[in-house]
Amino acid sequence: MFNNSPQIFDKIISLCKRRGFIFASSEIYGGFAAIYDYGPYGVELANAVKREWWKSMVQYREDIVGLDSAIFMHPKVWEASGHVAGFSDPLAECKSCHERFRVDHLLEEAGISADEKMSEEEINKLFAENREKIKCPSCGKKDFTEARKFNLLVQSNLGNFAEDWTKNPVYLRGETCQGIYMNYKNVLDSVRVKIPFGIAQIGKAFRNEITARQFIFRTREFEQMEMQYFCSPEEEMQEYEKLRQVRWQWYLKLGLSQENLKWHQHENLVFYAKEAYDIEYNFPFGFSEIEGIHARGDYDLTQHSKFSKQDLSYTDARTNETYTPHIIEASSGVGRIMLAVLCDGYSEEGGRNVLKLKPQLAPYKVAVFPLLANKPELMAKAREVFEMLKSDFMTAWDDRGNIGKRYFSQDEIGTPYCLTIDFDTLQDNTVTIRDRDTMQQERVKVGELKDILIGKLS
Ligand code: ATP
Repeated sequence: MFNNSPQIFDKIISLCKRRGFIFASSEIYGGFAAIYDYGPYGVELANAVKREWWKSMVQYREDIVGLDSAIFMHPKVWEASGHVAGFSDPLAECKSCHERFRVDHLLEEAGISADEKMSEEEINKLFAENREKIKCPSCGKKDFTEARKFNLLVQSNLGNFAEDWTKNPVYLRGETCQGIYMNYKNVLDSVRVKIPFGIAQIGKAFRNEITARQFIFRTREFEQMEMQYFCSPEEEMQEYEKLRQVRWQWYLKLGLSQENLKWHQHENLVFYAKEAYDIEYNFPFGFSEIEGIHARGDYDLTQHSKFSKQDLSYTDARTNETYTPHIIEASSGVGRIMLAVLCDGYSEEGGRNVLKLKPQLAPYKVAVFPLLANKPELMAKAREVFEMLKSDFMTAWDDRGNIGKRYFSQDEIGTPYCLTIDFDTLQDNTVTIRDRDTMQQERVKVGELKDILIGKLS
C-alpha cells in the first residue's frame, strides 16, 4: 500500500491542494516560500492530531499540565537559551545559480556524516575535502561559497519604535519550550504539582530555514507540540526511557505503520545533553525526523536562573534535597506528523484514491447522502439524519451526482463511513452504512446510528 516514490509524493501534494487540505500561502501573489495554509480538511486533520496529542499528554496524565504561553518573550530568554549565539545552520551559496543550501544536508546527501552542530571550521574542512562529490542540487555546478553559520531566529520590531530596531530586536519564538521554562515556577507555585511533573504546550514556532523543500516537512512558520518533564537528577534517565516508550506507542496508536518508523540516536550530542533520540518516519523522500526526545540535564533552568538571577531550584520533599530540576522533553511538529499520516494513509486501489486515516484523525467522521436529490421526501429524511448526527460528529452532506462518485469523493478525504438514505429508509427507518476501507455495506436502524458510530470511532 505504502509507496515511497517521488511520484507518489507529487500525487499526495496534489491531493492536498485539490481536496482542500493544504494551500501555498498567498498563492495569488505567487506564493510565499516555506509558508503554507491549512484548508477546510487540513485544519480538521491538524486539530485531530493536536487533540490526540493533548489527550495522551495532558488529559490522561495526572502528572502533566497544559500551558499556552505567548509567542513573544523577553529577548534575554533567547540569549540565556543559547539561541542568539548558537541557533544556526551552515549556509553556502551556489556561485552559479545563487541558490542557498544547508551544507550539512549537502554533505549528508553525498554520504558524508555531518550535522548542523559542527563548528564553522569543522564543517568547512569537511566541505572542502569533499567538494568534488557535491553538486548544486539546482544547477549541477560544483562552485560554492564557504559555509557560514546562519542564525535561524526570526527578528521583529515589536515594541521597538527606533529607526534602527535591528540593534535590539525581539524574536518570534524559535521553539515553544522556552515558554514552558519561563512558566515552570508559576506552575509550581499555582498548581499542586510535585516533581516529577510535566508541562505540555502546543503553539507556533518560527525559524529562518535556509532551504524550503519537501512541502510542509520544513516550513518557516510551524506548530510544535512540546512536553517538558521536570525531574530529579537521579530519576532523569529512567523517566527518559519511559517517555521514549510512551511516544513510540502514540505513533502506533495514531495508525502509522511500524515499519515506517525508526529510532535515530544522535551521535554528536550538545555538551549538556545526556541522551538524544529522534523518531523518524519513512517519507517518500526517505526517513526523516518527526519528533525529538531528549534528556537535557539541568541546562535550561540553570541558564535561566543565571541570566534572570532568580532562584529556580526545587526542594524535593521526598529526600529533602535541593537541586535544579533536570528536564526531559518530547518535541514534535504538527505539520510533519500530518504529512506522515497522509503518506501512510494514501492508497490507490480499484480506480479510487483512499486516505486510510484512523477514524479519530479523519476530517469528517461520517457523510450523509440522500439517494436522489430531486426527491423531496428523501432529502427531508436525509436532512433529519444529518441534523441528528452533526452535534456529535463532524458530518458531511453530499447530494451531487451519483452515489458511487460521492463514495469515491469521501474516500479521497478519508471519511470512514457513508450513510445512504433511500426509499427503504422511508419505509423501515434504516440506512446503509458503507465502510471506507472494506467498501462493505450494511443496513442499520436510524435510531441506533449514534451508538454504532460511537462504537466504530472509539
Ligand atoms: P531538523 O533537524 O529537521 O531541522 P530539528 O532537529 O531542528 O529538525 P527540533 O528543534 O528538535 O527539530 O524540533 C522538534 C520538532 O519540531 C521536529 O521534530 C519537527 O517535527 C518540528 N520542526 C522543527 N523544525 C521544523 C520546521 N522547519 N518545519 C516543520 N516542523 C519543524
